[in-house]
Amino acid sequence: MANSQRRRPLAIQFVICHLSFVIPHKVWFARRVNPTRVIFWNEYIHEKKDPAVASVYPKGIHSELAAAFAHDSQLICETATLEEKEHGLSVNRLDATDVLVWWGHLAHKQVEDEIVERVRKRVLEGMGLVVLHSGHYSKIFQRLLGTTCSLGWREAGEKERVWVCQPGHPIARDLPAYFEIPHEEMYSEPFGIPNPDELVFISWFQGGEVFRSGCCWRRGAGKIFYFRPGHETFPTYRQPEVLQVIRNGIGWATPDRPRWIDACPNIKVSPEGITQPARK
Ligand code: ZN
Repeated sequence: MANSQRRRPLAIQFVICHLSFVIPHKVWFARRVNPTRVIFWNEYIHEKKDPAVASVYPKGIHSELAAAFAHDSQLICETATLEEKEHGLSVNRLDATDVLVWWGHLAHKQVEDEIVERVRKRVLEGMGLVVLHSGHYSKIFQRLLGTTCSLGWREAGEKERVWVCQPGHPIARDLPAYFEIPHEEMYSEPFGIPNPDELVFISWFQGGEVFRSGCCWRRGAGKIFYFRPGHETFPTYRQPEVLQVIRNGIGWATPDRPRWIDACPNIKVSPEGITQPARK
């Protein structure tokens, strides 16, 4: 009894020390040593041909987003665009990427099928994919989800109220119960997607429509997050709550285990010794 009384405070001290110092430093060290490598991909067409869009995002949506997170010590932010060789998504570059963020609208059909298949393979291996706004019609989003991904829309610059459905979800971290975007394009249901594994946000629009605006899926070892806001003529990607959602989405989609290599091996001998007879 006397021994356990003497030992107990020491054990408690050890636990307190571990919780308050060792674990946070391990997490901090792991993140410093192994930051998340992110590519912000954009077709980069609106900004070059439409002065109204260029005035909002003069360097392109991809550069705007990369710059917004450039000082985040847990991220290494790069960009890629449609016009680059292999759309900026070479095998080596994708191999070194943890999360791909995708914005497209006018040029979905110009994305080469070979590159789409390359991205799909990396997602199945574990790379995260964050699809923004009109990326709902991108080849990669449709291919991974297997549905049309259609929706209703209206460009009237109306207010959007984004409601948090799951306050405890990592993508809702540090957000209020809802936030509003003063002017946005409206998207409405029905949204032609498979039921999300997790629904984090629902949007209400000034005109009365609603939309599932923050949806999560898993495909293979990869995590996919779709986030609705981001019409090109509005400065949505400068709004702090919107950037917080994208940052949270990147964090959630970051791989948390080694790459999964898809295979179809013939297991000729089971752990219990059952064997596959030779074919005659
Ligand atoms: Zn739009």
